[in-house]
Amino acid sequence: MALIVQKYGGTSMGSPERIRSVAKRVARWKAQGHQLVVVVSAMSGETNRLIALAKDVSPQPDERELDVMISTGEQVTIALLAMAIRDLGLKARSYTGGQVRVLTDSTFTKARILEIDDANMRRDLDDDTVIIVAGFQGVDADGNITTLGRGGSDTSAVAMAAALAADECQIYTDVDGVYTTDPRIVPEARKLDRITFEEMLEMASLGSKVLQIRSVEFAGKYKVKLRVLSSFQDEGEGTLITVEEDKNMEQPIISGIAFNRDEAKLTMLGVPDTPGIAYQILGSIADANIDVDMIIQNVGHDGTTDFSFTVNRGEFAKAHSILEGVKAKLGAREITGDNKICKVSAVGVGMRSHPGVASQMFKALADEGINIQMISTSEIKISVVLDEKYLELAVRVLHRTFGLDQ
Ligand code: ADP
Ligand code: ASP
Ligand code: MG
Repeated sequence: MALIVQKYGGTSMGSPERIRSVAKRVARWKAQGHQLVVVVSAMSGETNRLIALAKDVSPQPDERELDVMISTGEQVTIALLAMAIRDLGLKARSYTGGQVRVLTDSTFTKARILEIDDANMRRDLDDDTVIIVAGFQGVDADGNITTLGRGGSDTSAVAMAAALAADECQIYTDVDGVYTTDPRIVPEARKLDRITFEEMLEMASLGSKVLQIRSVEFAGKYKVKLRVLSSFQDEGEGTLITVEEDKNMEQPIISGIAFNRDEAKLTMLGVPDTPGIAYQILGSIADANIDVDMIIQNVGHDGTTDFSFTVNRGEFAKAHSILEGVKAKLGAREITGDNKICKVSAVGVGMRSHPGVASQMFKALADEGINIQMISTSEIKISVVLDEKYLELAVRVLHRTFGLDQ
């Protein structure tokens, strides 16, 4: 007998038939004698619908109230799944985040999980009951409802698995595993049988939304056995996220291509080239809680320099207006911005032992006439910023260049 945490995403919970099909899958695992905790997302499209509704009423909705509202999607699906499982003759009980007591901090809309109380769940598990938990939500110390950021049900599931010391955490979604790149963009993308935590972390943080990045961090930290699988297929081992590189396998140099459309670039031209400039520009951006990704400062000429950085596209306007203030203070010449850019990245632990990956990447893009606007590298990834119109072409070309379709 094993204790298994399963998570079903929005598409998997998207209709009454699909919910009944999830119930049947849960029942099959139960019939094999396992204990089951099932974490669910809202029905597909529901969280988007709720956010749009809130913004229709209030352009900048209060974040506490937003969380009260957008957490409701999961409250619907836990009850529906519990009903469907009970109709199959099994014991099932739904829990909201607050009923479990998933304790989080109070950062509404992107709260972090601090602690999970497993007492109620343990009691029900011992009583042979299937537990259904609302993903994406928790409560803070004052009892306020919080949510964990988009895609947060993955993190709920992994945190649940860590708290219960589960034998495995299975993420059921609409693809049958982690692919070399998003199969919606490159149909030739291949499913990976395994991927290391390190690579999965990079892929997730560089835009592969198949797993929320915090879920991967959590799984790495608490050694949760994490697997991504299809909720639409009965067969298949999915993709296992592993700590170790598989020593028996011939390792590809690049494991995957990730991309992110939600990027925007800001440049301050003619900034005085003196100590403290980076701090003055980026400090004011950080004070506004805006995350900065890539940063480039050019070599100075005639006592001035140019300074560029990228932010999430949703924060472009806010960052731009903050820079206007900084520009006046510093006496910089001009601010330019571009919110039609994207970031494409090649990820692979094999890069460590193989120099020349970057030049291979740049040549492939050059051969297609794609201009690179910014570059950033780490030990296991190379990212480039490009005009958004090249996104799909660049992803396909790099996927082919690194032999990922074979
Ligand atoms: P869920 O609703 O189940 O959480 P998501 O939409 O969040 O599902 O994540 C699954 C989607 O992630 C897939 O449909 C796929 O389009 C996308 N995706 C992006 N990159 C990858 C990748 N490298 N491998 C697999 N899927 C990916
Ligand atoms: N329903 C939430 C969202 O759409 C959480 C999730 O699906 O993981 O972001
Ligand atoms: Mg998701």
